[in-house]
Amino acid sequence: MLSDIQEILYDEEQIRHKVIEMGRQLSRDFKDRNPLVICILKGAFIFMADLVKAMDIPLEIDFMAVSSYGASTKSSGVVKIVKDLDVPVEGRDVLIVEDIIDSGLTLSYLIDVLERRNAKSVTVATLFDKPSGRTVELEADYVGYTLPDAFVVGYGLDYAEKYRNLPFIGILKPEVYNR
Ligand code: 5GP
Ligand code: MG
Ligand code: MG
Repeated sequence: MLSDIQEILYDEEQIRHKVIEMGRQLSRDFKDRNPLVICILKGAFIFMADLVKAMDIPLEIDFMAVSSYGASTKSSGVVKIVKDLDVPVEGRDVLIVEDIIDSGLTLSYLIDVLERRNAKSVTVATLFDKPSGRTVELEADYVGYTLPDAFVVGYGLDYAEKYRNLPFIGILKPEVYNR
């Protein structure tokens, strides 16, 4: 596992501090709004858990799983909802919790879906952002770290479903893709 990592970008301790800082800011901004916090599975599951623990306000959580059809490593923009929300979003202040934004296609689709369902507001918090990968115009409201254009794993993010359990975020060795 560890030997497959080329470089650790942010370790467990650094991420912990960043997520607590984001949680505190979100607590201030969503005070008295009872937000519906939506975790985008599977990648955001660890971030979501740590983030809501750092939010000391009333909130509700739900989960959505999406899959992107087509080309392997890059998002095709044709997004399929694999698991939908259990509750209606109409009139709710929605906070989408995402692991990483690359092209922006997945999130722009999801934002559109939630707006069409008449959410009162849709806000995006992402732990990682790769702005150089954008093919659509999209800016997250809250960003933890801006990353270079590399494929990263750990802290929930996978390569072929592996590496999600690494406590840090790191760049995968290119040879792992080519085996
Ligand atoms: P987008 O639609 O913005 O291109 O892709 C977003 C999704 O692609 C993310 O939620 C994540 O699941 C996946 N993704 C994008 N970049 C990376 C990356 O560097 N590492 C991993 N593991 N997944 C990524
Ligand atoms: Mg994701
Ligand atoms: Mg993935």
